[in-house]
Amino acid sequence: MPPIAPPSARPLANPAEVVRRVWGFSELRPLQADAIALAAEGRDALIVLPTGGGKSLCYQVPPLLDDSCDIVVSPLISLMNDQVAALKAYGYPAASLHSGLTPAENAEVTRAFLAGELRLLYVSPEKLLTPWMLATCERVGVRRFVVDEAHCISQWGHDFRPEYRRLSEVRDRFPDASFHAFTATATPRVRDDIAAQLHLRDPSTLVGSFDRPNLTFRVVPLVDRYKQVIAAVERHVAEGGVIVYCISRKDTETATEHLRSRGINAACYHAGLTPAERLRVQEEFKRENLPVVVATVAFGMGIDRSNVRAVVHAALPKSVEAYTQEAGRAGRDGLPAECVLLYTAADAFRWESLFERSAEEAAMRGEIEDAKKHAEAQKDMLRGVQRFAGSPVCRHRALCEYFGQSYEKDGCGACDHCLGEVAELPEATVVAQKILSGVARTGERFGVGHIVDLLGGASTDNIKRFGHDQLPTFGLLKDLNKKQLTAIVYQMLDSGLLDRSEGEYPTLRLNPASWDVMRGKLQVRLIAPRIAKTKEERAGRKKPSSNLGAPKPSVAELSPADALLYEELRRWRKETADERGVPPYVLLHDATLAELCKERPATLTDLLRVRGMGEKKALDFGEALLEIIDEA
Ligand code: ADP
Ligand code: ZN
Repeated sequence: MPPIAPPSARPLANPAEVVRRVWGFSELRPLQADAIALAAEGRDALIVLPTGGGKSLCYQVPPLLDDSCDIVVSPLISLMNDQVAALKAYGYPAASLHSGLTPAENAEVTRAFLAGELRLLYVSPEKLLTPWMLATCERVGVRRFVVDEAHCISQWGHDFRPEYRRLSEVRDRFPDASFHAFTATATPRVRDDIAAQLHLRDPSTLVGSFDRPNLTFRVVPLVDRYKQVIAAVERHVAEGGVIVYCISRKDTETATEHLRSRGINAACYHAGLTPAERLRVQEEFKRENLPVVVATVAFGMGIDRSNVRAVVHAALPKSVEAYTQEAGRAGRDGLPAECVLLYTAADAFRWESLFERSAEEAAMRGEIEDAKKHAEAQKDMLRGVQRFAGSPVCRHRALCEYFGQSYEKDGCGACDHCLGEVAELPEATVVAQKILSGVARTGERFGVGHIVDLLGGASTDNIKRFGHDQLPTFGLLKDLNKKQLTAIVYQMLDSGLLDRSEGEYPTLRLNPASWDVMRGKLQVRLIAPRIAKTKEERAGRKKPSSNLGAPKPSVAELSPADALLYEELRRWRKETADERGVPPYVLLHDATLAELCKERPATLTDLLRVRGMGEKKALDFGEALLEIIDEA
């Protein structure tokens, strides 16, 4: 058996060779090769790849080719720590500098940086902008700067961070270095803004495919929020991690309570936690001690793990950009995963008032100039995600087209539309006419709740007080329950069949489209609202032929014997990860474990042929793995 030298001991040939030896990947993805070539040339670049598209490799490989130390600007300490831990497992010399380090750790990283021992140094923007850090970069002769999550620099992006704005100063101070901006989410407008704000010089722009074929997208009309969340979580919690996104801190707490009441181990994650508490949740999730995290959409960026099997949006995300980024946290290991979005237009109204408030606050802090304009830009993006949710088009196609890409396939086989799951409400036009006439008969002076009571035939105090139980529309739709009726009214608001007034107590108003419907000039299509099915109901039903049908996607294709070995390997991975204090997937991905079961390598050489098995990993774990496989 030939001994395996650590990666740095042999001269490294070309990028593909490096990737094979260090990471154990048989090839580079096409765009990765291009991005690496640009880095080697020292050409400024803007690289747009979806989450899970393999951005990290694009900047992790170049310094190995020319023995440089490149700087990576990253917005969150947790993301940096994660990346550094993952790189160290591959034997890659990387470190990070940020406010979370002890003085001793800080001194050690600085020493290694000055001694030229590092290939990548991750820093926060604040850290990079300190005079000391800039001077040190000059001394070391840094030639490449990488800006990760580069959309944070743009106010048109969905995650604007004012501290990113000053990065152009670094660009100006290092005219001979090249700058490489990476983002998962950029519309052409944000893309241009990134290039302008960073002062990129004639950058090459590479845009990868936005499609994530392993994700199954479902948009489900909201009927009973927490019941639906529980149903979605229960479908996946046995196979891997699940992330639930909510709008507010309070919602994360409520959702967590609901999940716990069903015996599901879940924890909240939001800005109200102390950094130590947040770190604990993140770590427990990554280490697979905690299967479910319930995060606010505003704050869930640090929640990362490659084997997330489902992302559930308990509420509407604030933009398509945010949605793809959040949903994109599912299935980063390339295995099937599900993304469920519970949709009601009511959530959009919540966002609008949040946007107005936060824009005013940001303007007061001097971070943005024009609060109104800022809020309008955000509302535009919100309308984009509403259109996405309400659109009858294949979800994969809709997402690709949103980002300006064409989608070639006819049916994706992995979304609610293509799987034929979206049932239309029968006689939708008649139902809509009844609701509209309820609004008309009560003089357009009441809100959603009252109109729902009227049509549902609920004799509430208000209904009686106004004598509305005497109207011919009273109880006209009593076959539908309150939640279903509410969902339908919001769908009508969404599709512009009804309007709603501004203010604290918004009332429903008729518009020209409403009149067209009432006069029979406009046919209406509505989606039938469903109550989430209980486990028992689902058990009696045929499973849909989708990713969802596979109980454990990673082991789905394994024989029973291989599945046993898989469990054995998982147990070993968990123990080893705990000993080393890192998340299990940092050691080996689920896909690699599955492949080990199928291939059953008997020697280190065989082992190296397994995808995701770099030389360092084979050295570190080879013996243990071969022993487990041998005994199985
Ligand atoms: P991003 O940063 O774009 O979200 P990552 O860099 O985390 O994506 O990569 C996503 C996943 O794809 C990771 O699990 C990574 O190991 C895997 N990956 C990246 N490049 C390759 C490749 N060339 N071959 C196989 N797997 C790859
Ligand atoms: Zn589809």
